[in-house]
Amino acid sequence: MAISVPVFMYHHVLPEDGFLAISVKNFERQMKFLAEKGYHTLSADEFLAFKKGEYKPPKKSILLTFDDGWRDLYFYAYPIMKKYGLKGTIFLVTSWVERASIKKAEFFPYFHKECKALVRKAPEKVVLNWEEVEKMQDVFDFHSHTHTHFEDKICIKEEFELSREILKERLGIESRHLCWPRGYYDEKLFSLGKACGYEIFYTTERGTNIPDGRLERIKRIAVKPGLLWFKKALFIYSHKAIANVYLKFRKN
Ligand SMILES: [Zn+2]
Repeated sequence: MAISVPVFMYHHVLPEDGFLAISVKNFERQMKFLAEKGYHTLSADEFLAFKKGEYKPPKKSILLTFDDGWRDLYFYAYPIMKKYGLKGTIFLVTSWVERASIKKAEFFPYFHKECKALVRKAPEKVVLNWEEVEKMQDVFDFHSHTHTHFEDKICIKEEFELSREILKERLGIESRHLCWPRGYYDEKLFSLGKACGYEIFYTTERGTNIPDGRLERIKRIAVKPGLLWFKKALFIYSHKAIANVYLKFRKN
């Protein structure tokens, strides 16, 4: 049976479950389960090599991704993942991190809607700053979620290029990984993204990821808080044939 590496998509880790948020308690249950059952968390570059058929990851390999770069990840997700020896990938909106790094602010665990409202008014409260990003590099790697999340009036080329340049300047990495804001993409965006140096593109579509060299539509599973759900998703999306039957059944 074709081996698939499930890619999970998280946003916030907060004291309570909520929209795009998993509670600290539920997050810890999922991470503990992964560690105890011997799951292997890949880096984004290892995942890319796997997709290209250049690297055979250990059995039970997965990729944990976190979108937008919210500050709660530093306070809640980071210590838990570090404790269990797990790795993950955070997709940063680079203009947000730049603005969040201008001044310091106390941390408060806001829900998603409040975070979105504060991104413009007080990004330092809700978005990771470069100091926090640097500290977390022993657990996370950081890649692009564009420069402004497609929310400012800059051209698409700048969305891609500025993001890549800033990641290079701040972290010294040549990122090849781009996560589409709100999961939106089309053919024109693909070719521009590729021209700007990105090689692999992450969607919000469910499905499996096998080593077929197809890098344009990485499938991800939006995480739900329950451990039972998590175990089921891990099982289904690790097997292409099972996932195909499941997704077909789900649609009907
Ligand atoms: Zn996003």
